[in-house]
Amino acid sequence: MTAPKKKLKVATTSLAGCFGCHMSFLDIDERLFTLLEHIEFDRSPLTDIKEVSPDCDIGIIEGGLCNAENVHVLRDFRKNCKILIALGACAINGGLPAQRNHLPLTTILEEVYHTSPGVSNGMIPNDPELPLPLDQVHPIHEVVKIDYFIPGCPPSAEAIWKVLTDLLAGREPELGHGLMHYD
Ligand code: SF4
Repeated sequence: MTAPKKKLKVATTSLAGCFGCHMSFLDIDERLFTLLEHIEFDRSPLTDIKEVSPDCDIGIIEGGLCNAENVHVLRDFRKNCKILIALGACAINGGLPAQRNHLPLTTILEEVYHTSPGVSNGMIPNDPELPLPLDQVHPIHEVVKIDYFIPGCPPSAEAIWKVLTDLLAGREPELGHGLMHYD
């Protein structure tokens, strides 16, 4: 009797993302069952696992970096995952959240917590439990090495499926024109 093939461990996370890339991942629909014959999810918003396992095969990152916690989680994924994938526009170039880079952080916090309509006696949150925001939003490749990029906001389920099945088959992932988009 041959031993069952070991499943690849896949961890995912959303940093400064909107969870739309994860939703697009779930859009592979019933193919998720096929995928689960070959992979098991590690730390992910889809599981209750709190830490990335040290022997993770693939890490999938949605979202750019907007605060200190994002940087910590990203470094942890890089340390523990053999392959790291930037999923979606936010992870690749900061995405729409990086529009805030046009304004100083203090101006944004003042606007949101002090002066915007509906806020009276607002205070900028100052609890040590809260991660400090970064001055600017950054793409993840500015902090760690990324192995593959899947563009799109969000990338299509077909593109995600293609990259994962290529990796599972030991092929270099390749997105054709139909799967390559940035919107
Ligand atoms: S790339 Fe688009 S869908 Fe993905 S996290 Fe960013 S805003 Fe959301």
